[in-house]
Amino acid sequence: APPLDLVQAGPYEFRLERLGAMRVPGVVFASRELLPEGGDEALRQVADVATLPGIVVASYAMPDVHWGYGFPIGGVAATDVDDGGVVSPGGVGFDISCGVRLLAADLDAAALRRVMRPLMDGLGRVIPRGAGRGAVWQVSGRRQLEAVLAGGSRYAVEQGHGGERDLMRCEDAGAVADADPEQVSARAMERGLGQVGSLGGGNHFLEVQRVDEVPDEAAAAAFGLRPGQVCVMIHCGSRGLGHQICTDHVRAMEAAMPRYGIEVPDRQLACAPVASPEGRAYLGAMAAAANYGRANRQLLAEAARRIFADAAGATLDLVYDVSHNLAKLETHRVDGADRRLCVHRKGATLALPPGHPGLPEDLRASGQPVLIPGTMGTSSWVLTGVPGGRAFHSTCHGAGRRLSRHQAIRTVGGKELRARLESRGIAVRGASWRGLAEETPDAYKDVSAVVEAAEGAGLCRRVARLTPLGVVKG
Ligand code: 5GP
Ligand code: MN
Ligand code: MN
Repeated sequence: APPLDLVQAGPYEFRLERLGAMRVPGVVFASRELLPEGGDEALRQVADVATLPGIVVASYAMPDVHWGYGFPIGGVAATDVDDGGVVSPGGVGFDISCGVRLLAADLDAAALRRVMRPLMDGLGRVIPRGAGRGAVWQVSGRRQLEAVLAGGSRYAVEQGHGGERDLMRCEDAGAVADADPEQVSARAMERGLGQVGSLGGGNHFLEVQRVDEVPDEAAAAAFGLRPGQVCVMIHCGSRGLGHQICTDHVRAMEAAMPRYGIEVPDRQLACAPVASPEGRAYLGAMAAAANYGRANRQLLAEAARRIFADAAGATLDLVYDVSHNLAKLETHRVDGADRRLCVHRKGATLALPPGHPGLPEDLRASGQPVLIPGTMGTSSWVLTGVPGGRAFHSTCHGAGRRLSRHQAIRTVGGKELRARLESRGIAVRGASWRGLAEETPDAYKDVSAVVEAAEGAGLCRRVARLTPLGVVKG
């Protein structure tokens, strides 16, 4: 592989100059401290993505970037649909439409203290988690699962799981339109049947949090957040169904690439033109998984609502629900012309600016709530989009891994980690000791440094910091 030519272009911006087969430069938004090292695999991946047919402007990396399957996690790449642009399943990731939902309680943290134990016990009891251990919703069969794939959280709400307001505060009003259940294999359907309303593995969680610091009070008020308030953050995706869809369509694209004369530097970048049968098939299946992911988060939110009502007499209002693993067809101005682009965001979050037509009325003035989990031991953030937001209105999706899971479990045991968190007043309901240790806060970068870099780079603005009170870990 050719060397990488990395140069600093601003306080929070580094460029990978075009070399070899790169069609556009790479742009890494990071402080010098957060910048992956020169030989880092993630930087190589940013350069590899820059070779994809039809890519425009740049191959971007967010401040939480780290190594992923083909594309880095924390990567954004847009291709021109009308100029041979491709879609790549690796640019979305295996957990299609993994994302975050935040709910705000009509309760202050001080009032929660006396009911914290029954509340956490209740959440620990009803939130299915870990590998294949049941779900909140027993979908009746293939027919009903197809309705979930077509209707997302809109269908869940129609079936009595939630209210109309939940849809207003969900990206795409709860469902993407162009889902095509026909493109979802029998194996993927089978894997998805028993998992609607379940967290999955250890990076996924349901966390009870407190609004701690509010750098932007006006935006926070528009989102329904105030200092001291209790929140619930849910992070999960499309489970086995999304994973199987990614596997199936990577395989189909690998076989199709020679036919389109596409060569990629890494097999994991398998792709096909957006307008090709393979490209359309993937996007239809991906949209189905996106709807599954939203229904999944809707069902888990309903389960949390029942426990909050019982244990604390409190209600939970949806602040927002946004995916961080998705490709979307969007129109953006490139070189003075409006272009139809396929924007891949993998471990990156859409961040719509104030005034954007994609926002519900009550969020038009503030911009989109952007939900950034940090770690179960430090903090998480709510951000918002900014005018002129770069990278096609995208920003980071988390703190980003610093240590692999394998490295993480060598630093601490699960029991010791739980004791440490509990001694700091953070209640823990895990699924496995190993899974807990893999998610030790030390395994992640400093989330506050990451959001500072994201804001400094002109991607978003900070609205509120959230600190953990209790975590139900996948
Ligand atoms: P990913 O989608 O890449 O698996 O995870 C997104 C982000 O979630 C990670 O980069 C990390 O910062 C964050 N995260 C992982 N586990 C937890 C947790 O238990 N609590 C919180 N608040 N954040 C977490
Ligand atoms: Mn996920
Ligand atoms: Mn995720």
